[in-house]
Amino acid sequence: MRKQFVVIGLGRFGTSVAKTLTSLGHEVLALDKNEQAVHDIMNDVTQAVQADAREEDTLRALGVRNLDVAVVAIGDDLEANILITLMLKEMGIPYVVAKARSAQHGKVLEKIGADKIVYPEQDMGIRLANNLIRTNVMDFIELSLDFSIFEIIAPSKFVGKTIGNLNLRALYKINVVAIKKGKERIVIAPGANELIEEKDILVIVCNKKALEKLPD
Ligand code: ATP
Repeated sequence: MRKQFVVIGLGRFGTSVAKTLTSLGHEVLALDKNEQAVHDIMNDVTQAVQADAREEDTLRALGVRNLDVAVVAIGDDLEANILITLMLKEMGIPYVVAKARSAQHGKVLEKIGADKIVYPEQDMGIRLANNLIRTNVMDFIELSLDFSIFEIIAPSKFVGKTIGNLNLRALYKINVVAIKKGKERIVIAPGANELIEEKDILVIVCNKKALEKLPD
């Protein structure tokens, strides 16, 4: 469904959110007090406006209150970030996402009603670190640019469940072609009733993207 967004603050984060939403087919009003920032994004969003978002009248004149989602992407100016988040919630926007600098800042945003609080730098750092130390994949054979056969240590969330229970093909788009159980035993083409046990090695065929979605 096509949704209507307003993105306030067109730094690197806000710009990237606004452009991505537009490229996904949504309507995006991009707002910044800085003329250059507005000019730079003009051709990549539905509407770009130069305005100070602390001015409630301006937000009302732009019809912001009727939009589905607001993203407050102002970083340095804490006061503006908090005030604008509060105003947007008071206007009745159903879903307001605010960018926080610190845990304390996040707490304030939560108290004033932000529906989602993001910490872009921290989140990116955590994701990268997890990616770097992900040890689940033991080996792989590339079948094509996208698909590979991987050997992964069974994620702990899978242990004690059957392949059927986990609904792996539907949920993660992965096919389990074999399960190595210790050094001696291997179950080829396991059926839906096959139980996954601790330390099992799963031999799977899947898209690399699907692999990233698997739990650790
Ligand atoms: P990033 O890390 O995403 O690049 P940042 O955290 O450094 O950004 P800032 O540069 O502080 O964030 O703010 C992002 C944008 O928000 C700036 O382009 C700034 O002009 C804009 N901005 C700040 N205050 C307001 C305001 N009151 N109304 C509209 N835009 C604002």
